[in-house]
Amino acid sequence: MAIDATQPYDDDNIFAKILRGEIPNKTVYENDYVLAFHDINPQAPHHILVIPKGKYVSWDDFSSAASEAEIAGFVRGVGHVARAAGMVEPGYRLLANIGQDGHQEVPHLHVHIFAGKPLGPMLARS
Ligand code: 5GP
Repeated sequence: MAIDATQPYDDDNIFAKILRGEIPNKTVYENDYVLAFHDINPQAPHHILVIPKGKYVSWDDFSSAASEAEIAGFVRGVGHVARAAGMVEPGYRLLANIGQDGHQEVPHLHVHIFAGKPLGPMLARS
């Protein structure tokens, strides 16, 4: 179910539990600012989630409230993960879902990295 991106941060969300080590994950990369791990239900041959370590509900929350260091750390972290996975030359797609119409399901900011095949049109045609 999609969430309201304006809700307060929920410490019990699944990615908060992953960050606390309460739920296992397949980690791809970690530093002071980000954790990157494989999506549990991959939508492409490579599907990695990158999350900031800070408590931010969505891109909206993060882009308005995060520090310059957190923003730089997150953006650089996403780029590093894609580069390290060899995705730059074949190409990849970034996606951040925000709120109801964006169909965001987990209320902790995450960027999806998709790669490993031609990814087709940007949005499903309805
Ligand atoms: P959203 O729709 O919020 O942008 O995407 C949430 C993503 O989190 C989905 O792609 C879903 O498969 C993934 N996900 C949900 N629960 C878990 C989990 O426990 N572990 C991992 N690795 N991914 C999860």
